[in-house]
Amino acid sequence: MENGLLIVISGPSGVGKGTVCKQLLHDNDKINLSVSATTREPRAGEIDKISYFFIDKEEFESMIVNGEFLEYAYVHGNYYGTPKKYVLDKIEKGNDVLLEIDIQGALKVKEMYPDGVFIFILPPSMEELKKRIINRGTETEDAIEKRFMAAYKEIQYVFKYDYAVLNDEIELAVKRIESIIDAERYKVNRQIDIIKEI
Ligand code: 5GP
Repeated sequence: MENGLLIVISGPSGVGKGTVCKQLLHDNDKINLSVSATTREPRAGEIDKISYFFIDKEEFESMIVNGEFLEYAYVHGNYYGTPKKYVLDKIEKGNDVLLEIDIQGALKVKEMYPDGVFIFILPPSMEELKKRIINRGTETEDAIEKRFMAAYKEIQYVFKYDYAVLNDEIELAVKRIESIIDAERYKVNRQIDIIKEI
């Protein structure tokens, strides 16, 4: 059996990648969302092994030492990481796995697993991205400007990815990602077993 695809989706802050990924998962029940491990406390409504694998710092650090993460980061005083075994087990059984992670994490995954499909979500324009960041609400003008400048820098990383998908409309962005996934499946090197049997 051929391996499933490891699909990695990132993009700048405010681009709407969370919404796009949610819709993609909703429309494609064969795509599994990777569950990260974290040392932070569960929030109300979060379920262990579904929202995250909630583990303590000691366990997380021993998993780092044992090379059990595809990538990990220390964010706001807590560890977060993508467990290698969970992801690779699913892929080896022919299931597709989606990682929605930040750019730094995605680049680390690319080093470990270059066979993945790396997709970068782009806004239709920088003005539109700024509008979306402002529409998220609550933040001061200064915070919005900082977030926008960070997003501006993040967009430069698009060149490290395999595909760039415009998120002008969610449904269109999802369709574009689905066509990338379809095309990836037809790659010769992903069909070696099938070809050998012909
Ligand atoms: P939260 O605590 O709100 O669930 O997540 C905090 C931050 O950790 C978010 O920016 C989220 O994207 C990031 N994060 C969650 N899981 C992972 C992971 O597996 N790897 C990395 N690098 N970051 C993660």
